[in-house]
Amino acid sequence: MEIMDKPIAKDLENIKGQLHQAQKELSVLYDISNAMRTTLELNHIMYIILTGVTSHAGLGFNRAILFLVNRQDRCLEAKMAIGPESGEHADQIWTYIKESDQKLEDLIADDKLSQLQNSSTLYEAINNLKIPLYTGEGSLLAMAFHKGTPLLLREPELDQYRNAPLLQVFHSKELIIVPLKGKEKIIGLIVADNIFTQKPITGEDVKIFVMLANQAGLAIENSQLYEMVVQKSHTDSITQVWNHGFFQHTLSEEMEKAKSANEKLTLLMIDIDNFKKLNDTYGHQNGDILLRELARLLKKSSRDRDFVCRYGGEEFSIILTQTSKEQGFDIAERMREEIAHHSFPKFHADKDLNIHVSIGLATSPDDAASKEELIAKADKAMYIAKFGGKNQTCIADKEAG
Ligand code: GH3
Ligand code: MG
Ligand code: MG
Repeated sequence: MEIMDKPIAKDLENIKGQLHQAQKELSVLYDISNAMRTTLELNHIMYIILTGVTSHAGLGFNRAILFLVNRQDRCLEAKMAIGPESGEHADQIWTYIKESDQKLEDLIADDKLSQLQNSSTLYEAINNLKIPLYTGEGSLLAMAFHKGTPLLLREPELDQYRNAPLLQVFHSKELIIVPLKGKEKIIGLIVADNIFTQKPITGEDVKIFVMLANQAGLAIENSQLYEMVVQKSHTDSITQVWNHGFFQHTLSEEMEKAKSANEKLTLLMIDIDNFKKLNDTYGHQNGDILLRELARLLKKSSRDRDFVCRYGGEEFSIILTQTSKEQGFDIAERMREEIAHHSFPKFHADKDLNIHVSIGLATSPDDAASKEELIAKADKAMYIAKFGGKNQTCIADKEAG
């Protein structure tokens, strides 16, 4: 048998290594693009991307943060981060993943990484991190965004950015920043490093990261478009609050949730008093302006967990979650008084025009077991407020039908 030439054997070994690497890269990209196809939900897509970047079965970076552009505020917002808290924690996780032979698919399917990684420290540090897009001195991410190409930054170079907000919370000696590209523009950035293993980032790492980021950018952009369309289809075009369809759907859902959590939910039905007269005097267009202003006031004085909706015509409904009858009454009265005292810019010259509302209130499960019954009770209470002289809040009568 002929003995193989030493240099040839070495070449073969190299080629085998390269083949193995290429196969691994392809399989990572295949797994991630497949996973991203299964969902349009933005949070899930971001989780898949960061799992791909950080898991050993993926690109194997120690930590990663995903930023998205907020065009309105002209800044980059940190949206999600994955990474262990310390080297020790990283070892525990990676040993577990290796020993239990977790594949990328498994990690993605079960949201395993987020369960394993108590990444709250990293997430808390970056949560609310907003980085302006103007390229001031030391503004690392803005510079990366405007450059639009992947950046691999090492220690001497990184030093000029030591005061950058990112490096205040993400202490790195070497990091990579890769742009997320949508169809026509950059929509965000991913930052990653190997803080715990100190493994140098290679040109090969950059190449595969960029391939992943290119797919990820398109998937994120699609998901953002989808969420915008969904949001629009649930929004009333005149007042920009939730529309009737969304109200019905949400009330069912929230009543179910409240029931299983043994919590109360209060529904307000709000009707503008003497609105016909205002329309007749000032015209429908001015009537619409008032509807918009009123919706804005209602949204402003409600809490994040409430749902302000346009029930129809000049009637609004508000779902007050986790709210008892007494709390609901206080909220309703506060809203009613605020409206009665508000100076509506378009009409404030008319001293005789008093804009006010009548409110009916019913609480689940005290007043009603079903959605239909709850709406009917609140509606009836609202009519009692009308008969009682308007500009007041009335509570559903438990006994009345
Ligand atoms: P009440 O105090 O009893 O509620 O009297 P009202 O005049 O408010 O009630 P009524 O039901 O008689 O009239 C409601 C009016 O609301 C009639 C309709 O022209 C007006 N309206 C309904 N939807 C819209 C809308 O989208 N834009 C405008 N400008 N007006 C609307
Ligand atoms: Mg009405
Ligand atoms: Mg009315």
